[in-house]
Amino acid sequence: MKLSVFGQKFATNSGIVDLMADLGSALNENPEMIFMGGGNPARLEQLDTVFAKRLQTLVEDDEKRHSLLGIYQSPQGELEFRQQISTLLSDQLGWPINSDNIAISNGSQSAFFVLYNMFAGEMPDGSHKTIHLPLAPEYIGYSEIGLSENFFSATRPKIDLLDDDLFKYRVDFNELHIDDGVAALCVSRPTNPTGNVLTDNEIEQLDRIAKDQDIPLIIDGAYGLPFPNILFTEAKPHWNDNTIVVLSLSKLGLPGVRTGIIVAKEEIVKAYANANTVLSLACGNLGPAIAGELFESGEVLSLSQTVVKPFYQQQALQTVDWFRTALKGLPFRIHKPEGAIFLWLWFEGLPISSQALYQRLKQRGVLIVPGHNFFPGLDEQWQHKNECIRVSYAQSASVVKQGVDIIADEVRKAFADK
Ligand code: PLP
Repeated sequence: MKLSVFGQKFATNSGIVDLMADLGSALNENPEMIFMGGGNPARLEQLDTVFAKRLQTLVEDDEKRHSLLGIYQSPQGELEFRQQISTLLSDQLGWPINSDNIAISNGSQSAFFVLYNMFAGEMPDGSHKTIHLPLAPEYIGYSEIGLSENFFSATRPKIDLLDDDLFKYRVDFNELHIDDGVAALCVSRPTNPTGNVLTDNEIEQLDRIAKDQDIPLIIDGAYGLPFPNILFTEAKPHWNDNTIVVLSLSKLGLPGVRTGIIVAKEEIVKAYANANTVLSLACGNLGPAIAGELFESGEVLSLSQTVVKPFYQQQALQTVDWFRTALKGLPFRIHKPEGAIFLWLWFEGLPISSQALYQRLKQRGVLIVPGHNFFPGLDEQWQHKNECIRVSYAQSASVVKQGVDIIADEVRKAFADK
């Protein structure tokens, strides 16, 4: 097979390809694997029931079934769904938006592909611009998304060492130098992989820098505000017309419907919808059909608050506790769990790379994600990149506990063999 440059970049292996291959094999083909790798959300009974009821209604009603299966929606997304979302966001959060500020995507991953490449890469004047990640580590799924090389730039964080074996990354504003080579700033909040939640103050400062530079601030809210609201700390939802917020139905428990939501000023939404037409013609109808009523009634917020958030918060607390016990005596720290569905563990001085640790754990039937994958744009040598792993706590408590014990055992062996 003779591949183009595009083919070589997109059709070969990468961190996200390995991660999703692991996920597919663990969740579909080898269910005996202890799955603490990719970002599959938990199965929550209460949400399951809500989705099942809604599906039933759609299947039984001739007209609803036809519009679900038999009609292409507009590339910007079904108007009624966009209205339901914009009404909720403006009524509940005071965001000055309407349905023209909303576009739907086939999963937020594909929204990032379009948005990032819309802003960064080769510019019409021959210059090159990057998407800048003000706080690396960042989401592995961004890494290979750029159509050109050197697509990302990133700033190394400050590390605050906290009590109780915890630490927290902070944006290092002294080192954050945004010049004309940067097309947009992007942060995930909560951050995948670390569970960090950027403070309101950090967001305000980033917002100011973006405005001064006349570039957008993109906030990836896959786990965030106002839904699925997997945050264990206080934070304000942020939007203004220099911000692009990207949301997703996936972590509510609907990754299979592939629905992402873009909230941005009209000009950006229109440009996005044009590009999405070329790529996808239209978005899938199932996500909007299942979730529309939850937006209409506001239930999407109450379910997030009363079901989704408490589940993950409890899992996070419990998993940290298990790790503290299992790793006793070893040089470990855990990023303060402030949100999302992962713990980020740092083994300072780890004698093997995080990739080697990942392979040893896979041999023992446990899937995690090695940390070096989460530093798109940060090319500098930094041992820390090889000393961290990401561990999902979305599976059932008994599975997570088994995984914790095996991870601790392998880490202990690695240090003992030093
Ligand atoms: N952004 C972050 C931070 C994620 O963790 C994920 C998925 O895990 C995505 C975006 C993409 O999610 P989806 O395409 O399912 O909306």
